[in-house]
Amino acid sequence: MLQKNHNRRPLRPATQMVHGGTMRSEFGETSEALFLTQGFVYETAESAEARFKGEAPGFIYSRYGNPTTRMFEERMIALEGAEDARATASGMAAVAAALQCQVKAGDHILASRALFGSCRYVIETMLGRLGVSSTFVDGRDLDQWQKGVRPETRVFFMETPTNPTLEVIDIAAVAEIAKAAKAVLVVDNVFATPMQQKPLELGADVVIYSATKHIDGQGRCLGGVILSNQDWIDENLHEFFRHTGPSLSPFNAWTLLKGLETLPLRVAQQTVNASRLADHLAGSSKIGKVLYPGRPDHPDAAIIAKQMTGGSTLLAFELTGGKEAAFRFSNALEIIRISNNLGDAKSLITHPATTTHKNLSPEVRAELGISDGMLRLSAGIEDAQDLIEDVEAALAAV
Ligand SMILES: *Cc1c(COP(=O)(O)O)cnc(C)c1O
Repeated sequence: MLQKNHNRRPLRPATQMVHGGTMRSEFGETSEALFLTQGFVYETAESAEARFKGEAPGFIYSRYGNPTTRMFEERMIALEGAEDARATASGMAAVAAALQCQVKAGDHILASRALFGSCRYVIETMLGRLGVSSTFVDGRDLDQWQKGVRPETRVFFMETPTNPTLEVIDIAAVAEIAKAAKAVLVVDNVFATPMQQKPLELGADVVIYSATKHIDGQGRCLGGVILSNQDWIDENLHEFFRHTGPSLSPFNAWTLLKGLETLPLRVAQQTVNASRLADHLAGSSKIGKVLYPGRPDHPDAAIIAKQMTGGSTLLAFELTGGKEAAFRFSNALEIIRISNNLGDAKSLITHPATTTHKNLSPEVRAELGISDGMLRLSAGIEDAQDLIEDVEAALAAV
C-alpha cells in the first residue's frame, strides 16, 4: 500500500511543491513513482466488492483515479488551498468539464468577453447548442455583471489577467455579485499562475488551470486541473468526470508533478524577466503602450495591488508601426521564439491579431483592444540581460 507523507506543520508553497501529495510505494523511491497502469487487481472478490461499494480505500480504474495522477492532484490541492481536484487531459478539457458538469438546458452563463478563444466557443457554441444561453460582458465593469444576471444564471466565468491585453478583473467584487445571484463563479487562473493569485481565497468557487502552461512550463505535455470544495466536486464534477473520461494520463501527470517542484522558482525568474522587459520596452520611441500587471501605469493597478502578488510572467505591447513593425520585430528576435504557447522556460512571442485571435472580427478585436501592432510576450527563465539585448536588437531592426 502507498504511504502518504504526513506533515506535522503547515508548509509554505515552495516546500509543498517539492513534497506535497507524495505517496511512496514499498520500495521507498525518492522520486514519485510513475504508475503506468489502466487498472488494478484485487486480492479477493470481496475486496473488489468493498472497493466498488466505496467501503475500502484504493484505486479502481485510471479513468476514475490513478496514484500518479492523484499525487499531482494532491499537490495542486495543497498549493491552491482547495478541498479536492480532478486532473484533466488538457486545459480545455478542464474548462469544458467544469462548465458542462453543472448546467442543463435553460440555464444561463454570464462570462467576461476577453476569453481564450476555445473557452468562448465552449460557452457560446457548444453549450448554446445544448440549450444553455450566455451573455458576455466587459469583465472590468461591475455594473455589466450585475445587469447581466438573470433568474436562470447558474455560472459566472472569467479569465484574469486576460489574454492578450492583460486586463485584470476584480475577483472579490464579481464573487459577491455571483453569490447574491446564487451562481457558481469559475475562474480560469492560467495567466496569473497559482503563485500570483488565489481565486478561492477571493471568493471564487472553482479554479481551472491549463497545466500545459506554467505548471509543465517546459513545453512537454498538455494537462489541466479543476479545483474546488468537496461538495461542488461530489455533486457536480465527480460523476461527469467518471462517465465522460477527460482524465489526465499518468505519464503526463508525472511530468506535471515534477514541473510543480520548480514552479515557484520558474515563475519568480519569469516575473523578474517580464518586468525588466516591460520597463525596457516602455522607454522606446517605437513602442506605443506597454501593458504589464506590475507597472504603476497599468490601467487596473489598484485591483492588481489588492488581489495579485508579484506582477506577471507576461506582457503585451504595441508597436506604433502596426503589423509590419510587429512582424519585423518578431522576425529579428534571436532568443525569444515565435510561438503561441506561454508560461514556458523559453521566452515566446506571438502576434495575437494574426494567430490566437485571428478568428475574431476586426470590430471585436478593436473592442478587446487587440491592435495590429500588438505583441504578447511570455518571459522565460533566461538571463534578463540577454533578453533585453535581444529586444534591443529587434527594435533597431524595426
Ligand atoms: C491555454 C489556455 C487554455 C487551454 O489550455 P490547453 O491546455 O491548451 O487545452 C485555457 N485557458 C487559458 C487562459 C489558456 O491560456
